[in-house]
Amino acid sequence: MTKKIIDLQPEIPYHTYTVTETEVELKSSTIEGLTSDEAEVRLRRYGTNELKGSGGVKWYLVLWRQIANPLVVVLLIANILAFATEQFAEGGVILFIIIMNATIGFYQDFSAEQTMEALRNMSSPTAQVIRDETRIVIPNNQVVPGDVLIFEDGDVIGADCRLFEVFNLETDEALLTGESLPVQKNLELIKTAEESLGDRLNMVFASTTVVKGRAKGIVTGTGMGTQIGKIATTLMNIDTNELTPLQKRLNKMAYCIFVAAVVLVIVVFGVHKFRYSNEIAIYAISVAISMIPQGLVAIVTLTMAFGVSRMAKAKAIVRRLSSLESLGAVTNICSDKTGTLTQSKMVAVLMWFPGDGFYRISGTGFVPEGEIFRQGETINGETSTTQDEQVVTLDSGSDQLLRAIQASALCNMAELRRNNHPETHGEWTAIGDPTEIALQVLAYKAGMPKPELVENGFRLVAEFPFDSSVKRMSVLYETPSDEHLIFTKGATERILGCCSHYREGDAEIPLRNEKDDDSIQIEFESVIMKRVDTLAEQGLRVLSLSYRKFQPTKGVDLVHGLNRDEVESNLVFLGLVGIYDPPRAESLPAVMKCYEAGIRVHMLTGDHPSTAAAIAKEVAIIPADTDVKNSSMVMSADKFDAMSDEEIDALEELPRVVARCSPNTKVKMIAALHRRNLFAAMTGDGVNDSPSLKAANVGIAMGQSGSDVVKQAADIVLTDDNFATIVEAIAEGRRMFFNIQKFVQHLMSGNIATILVLVVALAVKDEQGDSVFPLSAAAILFMNLCYSSPPAIGLGLEPASATNMKEPPRTSKQGLFSFEVLMDMLVYGVVMAILSFVPFILVLFVFEDGQLGYKCNRGYYSEVCDGVFRARATCYATLTFLILSHAINCRDIRQSGWQWSRLKTAHQNKTLWLSIIIGAMILFPVIYVPGLNKNVFKHLGISYEWGIVFASLFIYTAFVETYKFVKRRTMA
Ligand code: ADP
Ligand code: MG
Repeated sequence: MTKKIIDLQPEIPYHTYTVTETEVELKSSTIEGLTSDEAEVRLRRYGTNELKGSGGVKWYLVLWRQIANPLVVVLLIANILAFATEQFAEGGVILFIIIMNATIGFYQDFSAEQTMEALRNMSSPTAQVIRDETRIVIPNNQVVPGDVLIFEDGDVIGADCRLFEVFNLETDEALLTGESLPVQKNLELIKTAEESLGDRLNMVFASTTVVKGRAKGIVTGTGMGTQIGKIATTLMNIDTNELTPLQKRLNKMAYCIFVAAVVLVIVVFGVHKFRYSNEIAIYAISVAISMIPQGLVAIVTLTMAFGVSRMAKAKAIVRRLSSLESLGAVTNICSDKTGTLTQSKMVAVLMWFPGDGFYRISGTGFVPEGEIFRQGETINGETSTTQDEQVVTLDSGSDQLLRAIQASALCNMAELRRNNHPETHGEWTAIGDPTEIALQVLAYKAGMPKPELVENGFRLVAEFPFDSSVKRMSVLYETPSDEHLIFTKGATERILGCCSHYREGDAEIPLRNEKDDDSIQIEFESVIMKRVDTLAEQGLRVLSLSYRKFQPTKGVDLVHGLNRDEVESNLVFLGLVGIYDPPRAESLPAVMKCYEAGIRVHMLTGDHPSTAAAIAKEVAIIPADTDVKNSSMVMSADKFDAMSDEEIDALEELPRVVARCSPNTKVKMIAALHRRNLFAAMTGDGVNDSPSLKAANVGIAMGQSGSDVVKQAADIVLTDDNFATIVEAIAEGRRMFFNIQKFVQHLMSGNIATILVLVVALAVKDEQGDSVFPLSAAAILFMNLCYSSPPAIGLGLEPASATNMKEPPRTSKQGLFSFEVLMDMLVYGVVMAILSFVPFILVLFVFEDGQLGYKCNRGYYSEVCDGVFRARATCYATLTFLILSHAINCRDIRQSGWQWSRLKTAHQNKTLWLSIIIGAMILFPVIYVPGLNKNVFKHLGISYEWGIVFASLFIYTAFVETYKFVKRRTMA
């Protein structure tokens, strides 16, 4: 199959083809892309764009895992032993248990794997392509040869492509060529077909990443037909197979227990003076097996898998399982503002120009319908909508306005589209950076959008893209009159420094006078910053626009040869634009929830401090009455970055809002949190955010606005980019952690109880000097199968307790086995053991004749064994009831599990209650079905003994309630 696909995509040396030849060969068009029909045909012909041999759950591997484990091997040995010595009943039970065990294990494991697999696919990357002349986003595996692919910095390239348009494109091809430095791409034709991969500069390859720039290319190969497909098959796998620290710890614990079990075997033989008999051998093995919490790791995995799929429904995709454990311990969330706390549906609402004053823009959302009103300057910089406003158009407005709109339209990579689909009635959609979308919408409203300018002859020559460390972006255009214009926009502080003039009306006024002092500049900057504050205090993101004419020097390659610093200098300042990005409705309640849960929220944003503070107040990250200028809660990144570690550690509290952040500030913040022993989640979207996400305990990437690179660095990807989702994920993480704690406690205390009964009973010896077993080997194995795993799975599914998000986070150091949990295990185990061993003794010596009989371990020979057989049934019934009822106790570590308010909600967790009820019901056939009871389980039907069983159950429940009551009173 794979072979055929490669044959269909023969290696054509596309790097020696011109763009036109490539288009012809691949029957595609760089402008129109493929039609969706053609793409479908090709998808069928070439297969999906995936590397084969990775992914896919193999049922036989899962099955093999069930069979090839030490427990099964031990059981098999016991089984062979039983059949060899003609103990067919035991043999039958053991065989049944092996099969049941493998079936349950297989089911658990397989559903866990399938859930994981589905999730792996969900987080698979997407690609931007042109189809039917429209730019759309599709899952990367749908890309076909001939598709026109668009990539930007941070993208992982989805297929091999011949480039036909590049802007400063640099890619990281280390994966493919071993070259660690980024490779600069161009469009030049290469003559030799044998050119090495690293030198095919007019091509890009699947799985390499875009470090810088933007480009478009035609897909020449997909899936196994790509260069990477030829050398590797498993590179794209996501790490969901890796074991989490908890799983590793449990695995280790399992091995310790295994060793302890071996010791127990020796003890059992030792008690019998190492005299070998088959009964003793099988009993010893059963004792050992009852000690091993065999389902444990599988149930942990299953619980996590369920948790992961619940989180996926809540729009958080877990990429690394280990982060699930960390989530519940998070004490601080460091969140982006834009798009996470806010809606990222930005609208330009105000403009300001030197000497001309404020302009208001009407309209909402992406819909480019609205008008521009001139408000003029007001005395104190306040704006209001009630003044005598006039509608302005570009013809009637100032020349400044015209330039500003040009800058908004052209220094802009966003695209607005009107959907012509009849169902959506010409709805507007937009692709690109929300800030740029807002500016493009503004240009549409002014009647001068980018497509129109391009049509009239404006041609993009070079681009210096935005990134959150420089906080500005520049473009170089050739105008219809063969002039060159530079447009730069960005954060005001980053623009002012590049300006030598400002525009007022038609005049360009220099910022330096003849004497070349900086008095004008200082004066000008203070005016501007006052206006910036006016806008920012209303929660607006403020961008400055600037431009200049550019005289290219002859012979300089304008596309590659320009120096960014040179381009971004001597600019003419145009004006300010205020863009509103309203907070999400969910943000405020989510932040409040964090406070209740003892979690601190920090906002780290690239925006101006006043903008950041205004939004922070709206979502209650800082109190509404905070005096922003004098509060230590709001800090600008330059100040934070300039502080030494000691100074930061001396702060009473870390700042809640850090404005004008760069990616490094985020790393510094995480380090500061870690020095305070706090446990931090950090969000990020840009390429440069990867280091901070990796440094954080839980790195969270934005699914919609995030780049592929940052998603790969993240532990969790939010498909809705929403802050509230993080809080939900934390709640889920806490729930899961406590549930795992609950069932581990249940399983372990049950095991301790069983082992204690079995070991203590070794002291009860018959005339032969053989111990009288309080439970038969079959009963031990059967109990282990029925009464530990199913309730544990049920406990894993328990809904979150009401106080889940009302308590402070657990400390990260305190793992699953806190002192309290260990103490509980031991106490409950010992008490259960006593309460089921005493009934055994009572029946045997008080209610029956106290005869220990002869060879009653082997079978029922005569009435001599009656006492032993009845006592066994009692012990079995008691222990079963105790263990099952203990599952209810384990629902809460401190509160009673029997509260009516909790019992009432039983229907929310059918698995738990069914496992308890069914578990109790199978007890009866095991005790009463003739033959099965006597021959297999070696006990007899009981009658008056039920009184003892229930008395025991009652005492246990009373004990647990008292114990919990004391804990509530005495423990912190
Ligand atoms: P955030 O962390 O809130 O997403 P960013 O780092 O994206 O902040 O932006 C920080 C500042 O950079 C903004 O306040 C704005 O002034 C400027 N800016 C944002 N986007 C662009 C862009 N596309 N082009 C130019 N400047 C931008
Ligand atoms: Mg941003």
